Amino acid sequence: MTAQILDGKTYSGKIKDLIAKDIDTLKNKHGITPGLVVVIVGENEASKVYVASKHKTCTEMGMRSDVIRMPESTTKQELLDQIDKLNKDPEIHGILVQLPLPAHIKADEAEILNFINPDKDVDGFHPMNVGRLGIGEEHLVPCTPYGCVKMMELAGIEISGKKAVVIGRSNIVGKPAFNLLLSRNATVTVCHSRTKDLAAVCREADILVAAIGKTKFVTADMVKPGAVVIDVGINRVPGEKKIYGDVDFDAVKEVAGYITPVPGGVGMLTIAMLMYNTLKAACLQHKITL
Ligand code: NDP
Repeated sequence: MTAQILDGKTYSGKIKDLIAKDIDTLKNKHGITPGLVVVIVGENEASKVYVASKHKTCTEMGMRSDVIRMPESTTKQELLDQIDKLNKDPEIHGILVQLPLPAHIKADEAEILNFINPDKDVDGFHPMNVGRLGIGEEHLVPCTPYGCVKMMELAGIEISGKKAVVIGRSNIVGKPAFNLLLSRNATVTVCHSRTKDLAAVCREADILVAAIGKTKFVTADMVKPGAVVIDVGINRVPGEKKIYGDVDFDAVKEVAGYITPVPGGVGMLTIAMLMYNTLKAACLQHKITL
């Protein structure tokens, strides 16, 4: 049996359709256009591609989209001053500082992200929003893991009561994925580089989320027959243009029940959820429930 493919285009399209209706209501009934600002510091080529893609989607969805480009030499204080202006601007609802930051301010990353108004924190990285997620309150939630669970929900995949295994414990994917699955009543195990007998732990999973950053790390023998396999990985192999996931797709699709491809899977949901968060941030700031 070959797994059913969870196609990112289909599910991001569904999310965008839902958002489009709400953007329309916000604009026409309340006179508010949700606005996102992405701040990019320096010349990271991959970041430029991501920012362009966010800008394009935002504009297509009828939202205001600004990109603020700051030079590589930007100091921590200059960046904080820029965020301060955006925090105070009533027409800006979402602020995203594109990571990674240049080397000389990398160590200040936490201080910089924590300076964003938590109600404008569309990345969901502010400790206030991290804490809220930890107590089961989904205020503004990190886009990638949020997209993973939204895709499963839209596909009609039952999460409650299932055994879920998340490989990876980063603050942007692994840990929020844990909280989102737990609050949907899965029994969740989080694995990392020190986990013993990882393959055996993974084989227990009804839902397996791979967020490792290693090409084809999850092999067919690590997957329970019929499991839902969500591949978050975006990995580049030197000398190749193609991107690879963390899952050995061709082999695992012969064992799994559902699987997300790379490219064309979770990555597309990430941007859709950024639009969702921007809309939500606009509603939060204007105290509107749609
Ligand atoms: P991090 O590097 O921050 O975290 C990787 C995690 O994988 C760590 O917890 C690490 O364990 C764990 N890990 C590494 N090696 C092993 C191993 N051999 N066995 C078990 N666990 C291991 O990565 P991110 O969470 O930021 O990203 C993960 C992947 O997802 C990357 O490919 C990234 O590009 C992609 N990504 C995709 C997004 C999208 O939009 N689709 C968005 C964000 C990320 P330990 O903590 O012990 O070091």
